[in-house]
This record gives sequence, structure tokens and C-alpha cells, in this order.
Amino acid sequence: MIPYGKQNITDEDIAAVIETLKSPFLTSGPKVAEFELAFAKYIGCKYAVAVANGTAALHISCMAMEVNPSSKVITSPITFSASANCVRYCGGEVVFADINPETVILDIEKVRNLLNQHPKGTFDGIIPVDFAGYPVDLEAFRKLADEYGLWILEDSCHAPGGSFNDNSGKNHRCGDGSLADLAIFSFHPVKHIATGEGGMVTTNDEELYKKLKQYRSHGMVYQGDPALIENHGGWYMELQELGYNYRLPDVLCNLGISQLKRAEDGLAKRQAIAKRYDEAFAGTNIKTINPPANVGHAYHLYVIQIEDRKGLYDYLRTKQIFAQVHYIPVHLMPYYKGLGSKKGDFPNAEKYYDHCLSIPIYPMLTAEEQEFVIAEILGFVK
Ligand SMILES: *Cc1c(COP(=O)(O)O)cnc(C)c1O
Repeated sequence: MIPYGKQNITDEDIAAVIETLKSPFLTSGPKVAEFELAFAKYIGCKYAVAVANGTAALHISCMAMEVNPSSKVITSPITFSASANCVRYCGGEVVFADINPETVILDIEKVRNLLNQHPKGTFDGIIPVDFAGYPVDLEAFRKLADEYGLWILEDSCHAPGGSFNDNSGKNHRCGDGSLADLAIFSFHPVKHIATGEGGMVTTNDEELYKKLKQYRSHGMVYQGDPALIENHGGWYMELQELGYNYRLPDVLCNLGISQLKRAEDGLAKRQAIAKRYDEAFAGTNIKTINPPANVGHAYHLYVIQIEDRKGLYDYLRTKQIFAQVHYIPVHLMPYYKGLGSKKGDFPNAEKYYDHCLSIPIYPMLTAEEQEFVIAEILGFVK
């Protein structure tokens, strides 16, 4: 069986988990800060906050950006629904803008039109998504956001290690804190770094960093923090705001540390697999996404677009190849339809959805398996 994505757990990973299980700290111990530091170093940002999953990362990020029932936040309809749901957790309104069909990421011109059509101050922030691993052009988005006083929360779940060169040639890694206010990652098993459940928020802003740490742990302020209002003694801690228990246990942090050591290698393997697919499908009626030279695609997914998507999906399953569809447009989910969106609102996203299929890509996919996948796809479309 060949799935569209799969984790890779090595003996070193297992040893790291066992080591932490035998240590005094299963949670809230030294591995949390160690993982955060290692991740921040890899991504190139100042601060990282480990959390229970990517959705929790989105939630506390919206809290840190003060999303509230009067907020309006823009995101893409082609993403996992959590990118939008986080705004709803805080009572805010989700406003979708269509994708660019060539990149499948939020179309900055659609966002600009939306902003132009409303008085300044209508919108609060943008949650662009590095869909499939294609980095959002944050240089352009930052400029637009600054014009309208918006914050940017980058959903980088698909793009650890992805990057782009800005107009001056400077390289920006997804989530490096140089352009977005906050970025988030997930360590779900299909993602680049797998801890089962897990997530991370990255930022270069110290104030946001402090808030995120507080919201991750109930909203509590602990001993040693100058923000304590009173102090009754060594036991004393203070609930200053309403937060959650979104902590990532040490056991999983140490698994993350171990996985992170192979992140560069895994990324290179994903890029090599994508290159082979690009070659195999060039000149056929299979549409692929072809990023320009200034873009370092992280290839969480390799998406093809074909006429008979359902036919190919069903056919591949008979060959034990489990391709997947990413994503059912979020605005067409019954929950969001209930909030007022409808079919026809975002034609690019809807057309993309009718034809897209994510085919197997993960570091352990062998050359033989990939050739088998290619042969079956080419055989079907002919
Ligand atoms: C996986 C994913 C999430 C949510 O992450 P979880 O860790 O599963 O909560 C959010 N956004 C995108 C784009 C994702 O792919």
C-alpha cells in the first residue's frame, strides 16, 4: 500500500522517546525549551512556542492578535479548515478570498480588491497558507498588510524549510519571523516533522511570545516572572487571563528534537521526488504546479490536476495507491455555508477542487514505488 504521505520513525526517534519516559519530566520539563530552541534555529526565527497541535497553535495565535467578535480575518478557502476555525474560536468572522490558480495560494490581488471595497479598518488580519509547501510571497503581503494596518499569521504547516527570495535577493524561510507577525506549524504524522500530535508558533516579537506562552498554559503567570501582580511565596502563581492547556509533553518534544535532525534530509528527498514527478508529467495533460526559481517549495504535498479526478482516485485505489484530495474548499463546508458562504463564491478554488489529487510524496517513498505510481497515472490518463 502506498499512501499520499507517511511518517518516518527511526530507532533514534524511539530511543529519544524512551529516554524521556525514564526521565523525571514527562511534561513541562527541559525538553520543551530544547525543542523550541532547536526549531527556532532551524526556521531562523527568534522565538518558538511548542503546543499540543497545529490547531492549538492557530488558536493561541488568534488570541495573541486579539481576535474578538468584531474582528474580520481573511484566509484562503483551499486549506485545512483549522486555518479558518481559529478565528471562529475567538468569535471573529472569517472572510475568504479566492486562490491564484497557478500557485493555489491566496491571490494577493483578490485580497487587495476585498480591502479596496471596504472602508479602512474593516479587516484585522490575514492568515495566508503556504499550501502544499509553496511559500506565500510575504514581502508583497507585508506591504499590503501595512497599507491597511493588518497583522499576518502565516499557516506554515506545509512548509517547514520552504523559503523564497525577496526582490532584493534576500532569502526568507517560512515562519522566520521577518515578515509575518506569527507563523504556525503542525507535527501531525503526515507533516514534515512528526510527533503524533504537536505544533509550534514562531515569532520575532517578544511581547507576542510572552502572551503565547501564557495562553498555552491556562493563562497562568508563574514564579520568576516579573509580570506577577502579587507574590505570596514559592507556591504562588497567578491566573491573569483565560488560557488553555495546550502544552506539548516532553516525551513528544524529544521525539521532535530527534525528527528535526533529519528535517533537511527529508526536505531534499521530497524535492527530489517532486522533480521526478515534474519530469514524468511534463508535456502531458496532467497539470502540475511549477514554482519560479526564487521559490523553495517544501513539498508537503505533490498535487496534480486532471480532467477525470474521481476516475483516477478510484483507479489508483484498486492499485493500492492511496492518493488524497486537498482540500474540499472550506467555504463549502456545511458549517461555513451556515454562516453565509455558497457555491460559486470562489470559482478558482472550486475549479481547483474538482480536478486536484495529491499523489504520494514522503521521504521514504522508494524510486520503484514512485515509478509504479507514475506508470499507473500515465496509463490511466492516456
Ligand atoms: C495540519 C494542518 C493544520 C492543523 O494541524 P493539527 O496539528 O492537525 O491540528 C492546520 N493548517 C494546515 C494547513 C494543516 O495542514
